Amino acid sequence: MDLNKILTELRQQLILINPEYEKRDVFIFAGIDIAARFFKNNGSWEVKTIDCSRCGTCCKKMTGKSFPFSTPDGCKHLITSGNEYLCGLSYFRPNGCAVAELDLEECSVKWEPVK
Ligand code: SF4
Ligand code: SF4
Repeated sequence: MDLNKILTELRQQLILINPEYEKRDVFIFAGIDIAARFFKNNGSWEVKTIDCSRCGTCCKKMTGKSFPFSTPDGCKHLITSGNEYLCGLSYFRPNGCAVAELDLEECSVKWEPVK
């Protein structure tokens, strides 16, 4: 199976339905996380090969006036479950949280280009 061919065809079909999609990034979600993404500036698909470890670091760094849920300790919706951190908003979490790229050393998430 040629994943790159499948994803490229998927995007082309979407553009046929709505030509505006050619100007947009495309994200494929698995639940509330992104499984595959296409950045128009890169012009190629990437897939997530290592998932989020639920370390909570990114949500703790979501501070500042531009973030609506900001507290001095990070996002007010961050909750703990055992040793993991979870989003208390679950399926209602903002899209921006899923697509944010904070480039943190602690982050386990890895992306690989689809060839
Ligand atoms: S809304 Fe949820 S995912 Fe977004 S920063 Fe807060 S806890 Fe994290
Ligand atoms: S920093 Fe990375 S691994 Fe940790 S919660 Fe955020 S996305 Fe998940």
